[in-house]
Parts: sequence; structure tokens; C-alpha cells
Amino acid sequence: MQTVQDIHEPMPKATPLHAAVLVPAGTVVLAATPIGNIADASPRLMALMEHADIVAAEDTRRLYDLANRLGVRVRGRVVAYHDHNEHHKADGLLDEVAAGATVLVVSDAGMPTINDPGLAIVRRAIARGLPVTCAPGPSAVLDALALSGLPTDRFCYEGFVPRKHAERLQCLRMLYPEQRTIVLYETPHRIAATMDDLLKVFGPRRRMALCRELTKDYEQIRRGDVATIHQGVIDDPPRGEIVLVIAGASDEESQAASPAAMGASDLAALAEERAQQSHMRVKDAIAQVVNEHPLPDGSLIGRKDVYAQVLEHKELRDKQQRDERQ
Ligand code: SAM
Repeated sequence: MQTVQDIHEPMPKATPLHAAVLVPAGTVVLAATPIGNIADASPRLMALMEHADIVAAEDTRRLYDLANRLGVRVRGRVVAYHDHNEHHKADGLLDEVAAGATVLVVSDAGMPTINDPGLAIVRRAIARGLPVTCAPGPSAVLDALALSGLPTDRFCYEGFVPRKHAERLQCLRMLYPEQRTIVLYETPHRIAATMDDLLKVFGPRRRMALCRELTKDYEQIRRGDVATIHQGVIDDPPRGEIVLVIAGASDEESQAASPAAMGASDLAALAEERAQQSHMRVKDAIAQVVNEHPLPDGSLIGRKDVYAQVLEHKELRDKQQRDERQ
């Protein structure tokens, strides 16, 4: 318990900043680097860059460029640590950690491991019982989420959607009933195709934000519904780095898309009703409802199966009518 005397003891001498921000020897440190604005580099990042025994960098040239811009001298050994060699390099680096070295892991921008290298060394460090810690900082996920204006209490991060069209559609269909806010990374080359698919799967009215060039001079947040953002991408194609933030499904959207609620027979009934009400061909109505009700893995119930159910329903109705006439 603290005594009055303890409380009035003189404060310890101020610790030099670098000592306060460093970590014990023999530790892996993941450190976030700026995603656009150099001033977001933390004092802790700078001290670690200067004092770590080894800096494992996704791109060594970019590390030195960052160090130059920050006016930091990297004293330790710098090694390339990227997607193609991280599994192979992790254990060698950890042998040095076990011998007392501090290994700093940095990626080109933002937080290592978030669509960037780093996870392999974290996993191996955990498996080997070696200390691993983090010097947190900028990451595009949280920046975009916070600026989107969409709910932040529950969200999921999905990284980049697949490049191939069919796989991307399947991935988006799987996300359609997700009730948490969804965060996706995107590139300027693929944003138009992704927005086309988003419109197809999510429909025009889902709220969303397109966040580009975060923390940079041309930072821009476009907020609206899917149709508005889609049109904006056509009229004024966004350049630079992009994050998409999409509102989660409402209870109704989520339940309507629930595969438990919708088997081939239910979809057949829904298609028959839609065909009648909207004066459309049954085949077209089937295509619509099948697309709107993906299975949990994002694949679709076969249209032929639904059509077979439509025929079965018709046969049943015909039989009932015959029975009633007899
Ligand atoms: N590790 C990084 C992080 O923590 O955000 C992500 C690296 S990932 C390879 C690169 C993607 O992150 C970009 O294609 C973009 O989607 C997103 N991103 C990174 N910096 C950004 C920025 N300044 N503005 C918008 N998006 C950004």
C-alpha cells in the first residue's frame, strides 16, 4: 500500500525518450510505418529504427528512404523480409532473438501482417515461446473505418477481394448477408470492376464509403450508396490507394439471404410469385432470386434445381385441381 511519504517522494529523474520507447533485448517488434503522412511516424518507431539490432524490412530501399526522411540513422543490420521469403527467414531471425537481439519488423506502409509480411515470424515466435510485441500506429483499415461514418462497433476486414471475376462475385455474395461493417482494400486498376460487381450483388441502396489517399494531400472520402459511388467511379475514376467501407446488412437483408430459410423449393416459390407480380418470365425470375440468395460459401443454388421445383409445384397444383374436380 502507498504511504503519504511514498506519494511525496521526489519523482524519478526523467527517462530519456529513446529508453522509454525501446523494448527489452531479445524481442520481436512489429512496428507500423506511415501510410502517407511522414509526420505519423511515432517517436517509438524512430527510436526502434535507430536502435534495433536487426531491421527486417519488406523493401530495404523503402526503409532507408523512410529513415532519411525521418532523419534517423539505422544502426542495425537490415534484411529483406517479404512475402516470398518470410517463412524461410523467420526461424533464422528468431535464433538471433533467442540470442538476445531485438528484431524490428516493418512493411512498406502501415501495420505489418495486415496484407503485408509479418505473420510468419509472429507465429513462429509464439510457437518458440519468444517475446513478440508491437509498436502500433497507422493502418488504412481503421483510418477508413473511422472516417466512413458507418457503424464502427462491429466490423470485419476482408483485405483485397479476388481478382478473378467469378471468384470475386462468389466472395461478394458470401459477404452480402454480413451484418458487420465490411472493410475492403482495393486498387485503382480494379475499382471499376469491383464496383460493378458490388452493385450487382449488394444492389444500389447499401450505404458505403470510398476512402482514397488517406493521410495524404489528396485524401478524399466519398460517402453515399452503392449506386452513387459506382457512378462516381465511372465519372471521376479514383486514383491512388483505396479502401472501401460497406454498411452491414439489415436484419431483413440478412434473414432473406439466409440459406437455412431458402432451399430450392423456397426459391421456386419466390420466383413464381415474382414472375406473376412483375410479369416476367419464370426463367428470369429464377435467375434473380437465385442470385439474391447465395449459400454460405458464396456459391449459388442451381437454377435447374429451382426450375425442377417450379415444375413440381405446378404438378402438385394440377393434381390438387384434378382431385377437387373428382
Ligand atoms: N499494411 C497496410 C495497412 O496496415 O494498411 C496495408 C498494406 S496493403 C499491401 C496496401 C493497401 O492498403 C492499398 O492497396 C490500399 O488498399 C490500402 N492503403 C494503404 N495506404 C493507404 C492510404 N494512404 N489510403 C488508402 N488506402 C491505403
